[in-house]
Amino acid sequence: MAFELPALPYAYDALEPYIDARTMEIHHGKHHAGYTNNLNNALAGTALEGSSIEDILKGLDMNNAALRNNGGGFYNHALFWEVMHPESNESVSGALQEALLAEFGSLASFKIAFSKAAATRFGSGWAWLCVHKGGKVSVCSTPNQDNPLMPGVGCGGTPILGLDVWEHAYYLHYQNRRPDYVNAFFSVINWGEVERRYQANR
Ligand code: MN
Repeated sequence: MAFELPALPYAYDALEPYIDARTMEIHHGKHHAGYTNNLNNALAGTALEGSSIEDILKGLDMNNAALRNNGGGFYNHALFWEVMHPESNESVSGALQEALLAEFGSLASFKIAFSKAAATRFGSGWAWLCVHKGGKVSVCSTPNQDNPLMPGVGCGGTPILGLDVWEHAYYLHYQNRRPDYVNAFFSVINWGEVERRYQANR
């Protein structure tokens, strides 16, 4: 079975004013759709056809540029849509909150660490919060469409929160003001989904 572009779990304009509708429409309908189609093309006729995206990424030949870029792009964006929500009024709680406090000392310090990872990624890439076996969490960033599941990227663990810092994710509304976009992201985080992913992968 070929991979399919997942439907957005909310309307294109649902994340306004933090992320504008036109950006969401192009990002989902063009960019994510493109990664999905190109992933299917890269897999067609190979032994990996039918594998889960997680297994494909964990066992990835990093020299396979088509699979690396498009498999990463497919997975990263699917996670990105799910960890955002227009009603981000629920705050972090439970075991995830405890893990964040244990690692960063405070939620404010976590936000600073995550924002720094997003702001200092030169060029295109992603900032991540990952969970490791045993429940520890960490922040890192990756270039391009790489992600922490891929071998040797230096993050480790399973990503449970990701922020796209490619210019296509923010340029229409924020132009070169990436820090403003990163700050706005914290207003639309779906902490319930992040907590669910923490529990499932700890
Ligand atoms: Mn993107």
